Amino acid sequence: MKRQVSAAILTTVLVSASFVAAQTKVTAPKNKYTPADDVKLGREAAAEVEQQMPMLDDDRVDDYVERIGARLVENIPAEFRHNGFRYTFDVVNLREINAFALPGGPMYAHRGMIEKAKTEGEMAGVLAHEISHVALRHGTAQATKATPYQLGQIGSAILGAIIGGRTGEVVSAGGQFYFGTQFLKFSREYEKQADILGAQIMARTGYDPREMASMFRTIEQEGGNRAPEFLSNHPNPGNRAQYITREAEMLRVQPGARDTADFRNVQARLGQMTPAPTSEEVARGTAGRTPPRGNAPDTRPAARVAEPSTRYTTYNEGDVFRIGVPSNWEELASESSVTFAPQGGYGTISGQSVFTHGVQVGIARNETHSLQEATDELLAAFAQSNPQLARAGNPTRATLGGRTALRTLLANVSEATGGRERIVLYTTQMQDGALFYLIGVSPEQEFGAYQPVINRVAQSIRFTR
Ligand SMILES: [Zn+2]
Repeated sequence: MKRQVSAAILTTVLVSASFVAAQTKVTAPKNKYTPADDVKLGREAAAEVEQQMPMLDDDRVDDYVERIGARLVENIPAEFRHNGFRYTFDVVNLREINAFALPGGPMYAHRGMIEKAKTEGEMAGVLAHEISHVALRHGTAQATKATPYQLGQIGSAILGAIIGGRTGEVVSAGGQFYFGTQFLKFSREYEKQADILGAQIMARTGYDPREMASMFRTIEQEGGNRAPEFLSNHPNPGNRAQYITREAEMLRVQPGARDTADFRNVQARLGQMTPAPTSEEVARGTAGRTPPRGNAPDTRPAARVAEPSTRYTTYNEGDVFRIGVPSNWEELASESSVTFAPQGGYGTISGQSVFTHGVQVGIARNETHSLQEATDELLAAFAQSNPQLARAGNPTRATLGGRTALRTLLANVSEATGGRERIVLYTTQMQDGALFYLIGVSPEQEFGAYQPVINRVAQSIRFTR
């Protein structure tokens, strides 16, 4: 009898030991910021989100999401808890399935996500994924590797980073070509981490992590002819459903009470309200709200600008590269790029920076793509804010700073002047694989004079790391 009891104890110990050993070990990525930085940046970004985005502000719905979220937060593994983090959940009145998290804990779920989830567990899956981004400090980890040179404005870069996609466009429309948001969306590696840790948190809370996998299937099915919004800031690392299911098989789901009746009641309540606007409607300002940053007065580029000086000035951009530009061009830095343009050759329209003459240089993240694929992705990002952008011929081989590059000619209709413009795009890869680009622009009728200048500026590039 005694013997049998100890055998039973031994079995239990072995089972729980293999349970611990089998679940995937998650390690938070390298981060040069402190947890206190996360809290500060998140708080600033949250103030901006709440001012710019249409909040639902319904106590019954907010309380419910807050309650489910708090239960998940209690089950964050001890090694990922940080002093000062405050996890909060608010509902944004937008139709697309999406959610996003800010450093230090503020989180936002789109109303569309709650409406389209089939079960409370599916909704909890999205919340657990967002909680994991916060606990693993992905926002500031991303900033750690994504700012190749000191550009300030880290707060808005992070904000754009985390929200991303079309929702990010609502909030951070300030970037050059709104490029900041594309530049900083979460990497696929971080997405997979958030899925795995999220699955572990779900199991500890009493939800089957397979419900997270089924929510991702729901997301994939959304959107019709355009990509689902959620994937624009949470890109699919590939085989999402498979690895979540595999992780789920290794986890023991703790017993937990389910509030399925509350979930149905909240869905019913949302169903009785005026349908949520899409983020595009909000961005256009047709949903009864002013467009973001649209209240700043436009400063339109001038019709005529001075010819490029034949004297050149060299600029050192951080520890990344050197560039020579006509000495009558000004240096205009933003969080993700630097533009050189003559006076009158740049301006701001409805909060968007525009330039009609000059060059812009920037670095875009690129994970696994070839130079051609990364260039195509960059062009797709530019095309989002330049709907008339079109290729004017096939890309040709070139060099930039001694590296193999692609040179692509483009045509566009200027948002600023309504006139036709020509664009030269050079792209090459940095040592870490990131995509380095130089884009030169001039009105079509001045392109004969500007093309040699753009080429000369491109040939002046020297990489310094
Ligand atoms: Zn994500």
